[in-house]
Amino acid sequence: MSTRAFAVQSAEALFGPIAIERRAPGASDVAIDILYCGVCHSDLHTARSEWPGTRYPCVPGHEIVGRVTAVGSQVTKFSVGDLAAVGCMVDSCRRCLSCDEGLEQYCEHGFTATYNGPLDGSGENTYGGYSEKIVVDEHFVLAIRHSDTQLAGVAPLLCAGITTWSPLKHWGAGPGKSVGIVGVGGLGHMGVKLAHALGAHVVAFTTSPGKRESALALGADEVVVSTDPAAMAARAGRLDFILDTVAAAHDLDAYVNLLKRDGALALVGVPATPHPSPSAGGLIFKRRQIAGSLIGGIKETQEMLDFCAERGIVADIETIAMQEIETAYARMLKSDVKYRFVIDMATLKAA
Ligand code: NAP
Ligand code: ZN
Ligand code: ZN
Repeated sequence: MSTRAFAVQSAEALFGPIAIERRAPGASDVAIDILYCGVCHSDLHTARSEWPGTRYPCVPGHEIVGRVTAVGSQVTKFSVGDLAAVGCMVDSCRRCLSCDEGLEQYCEHGFTATYNGPLDGSGENTYGGYSEKIVVDEHFVLAIRHSDTQLAGVAPLLCAGITTWSPLKHWGAGPGKSVGIVGVGGLGHMGVKLAHALGAHVVAFTTSPGKRESALALGADEVVVSTDPAAMAARAGRLDFILDTVAAAHDLDAYVNLLKRDGALALVGVPATPHPSPSAGGLIFKRRQIAGSLIGGIKETQEMLDFCAERGIVADIETIAMQEIETAYARMLKSDVKYRFVIDMATLKAA
């Protein structure tokens, strides 16, 4: 199927229209007409080759929601007309230990990313959600139980939502726990909402004083401007868990020092350049940990979506036209988005 999409042809190029091929749906495939696609900072890192290994043309987008237009003969979970979603993965080996445990993101053979995949060296590229249609094996398609009117705000749950949900659950965010969220951007604002909904005491750390009021409205119990040394010092040794979503290299010790004994700082931001090495002493003397976490598995993604649907949780978004993607990237680089751009795919179809 010839499909309209928006792509970059090199790290320096601007986005423009392109025609890509989507496969005809096989027996276990679901074909989706994309209605909205969120704009993740990973899209920008990839499109501009800030990480190694971008293949061009590059069609980013892994926060995909839409309507099912066709299903293969063996598909059981979806019917034509259903709302459906696709996140960061479209395949994995489905046989290894991680896949067996529903943690396909840690597939021992490498999962197939929704765009710029697979990672197995076959040379094929995958094209993401900045496009009008996608065809995906039903194992990697999520059901949407939100209402139709919430759909645009559901899109960011497929990456920003699950990337914060998975570590919050893994490190036990809940009642009685103090949880820090560093960076109130696309991921961070979902981290604040989800940690609050899970019952934790939430401390949001931001470099943007102007986000204070809205971070409180998202569910933060406290907001700390991280450039204020006195405000940081006042939280020393107080947090059980900190989730760091920042997309740029920064001093990790400033956050390690806020953890209680045995506390953990989990990194989800993937800056283009490494963070300065943390101090060993800050870790050793309180047996603290620095860890990392990658998106989330399909099972937990569905659990997160269902949790959000029950509680009416969606992302705070600004809807844009496909043609506005360069401006959106420029604003994302200035931390000037509350809190996620979502592309209305009707604008691609109209172009
Ligand atoms: P985003 O919307 O741009 O948010 C990042 C936030 O970090 C900004 O809003 C800003 O928050 C803060 N920030 C930015 N530059 C900073 C700097 N120089 N110093 C301190 N704080 C800074 O990005 P996103 O989409 O949430 O993605 C965040 C990172 O996570 C990216 O690196 C992305 O690639 C990565 N990611 C990882 C995974 C995973 O599986 N691990 C999944 C998705 C994305 P304040 O204004 O509040 O300071
Ligand atoms: Zn993402
Ligand atoms: Zn596997």
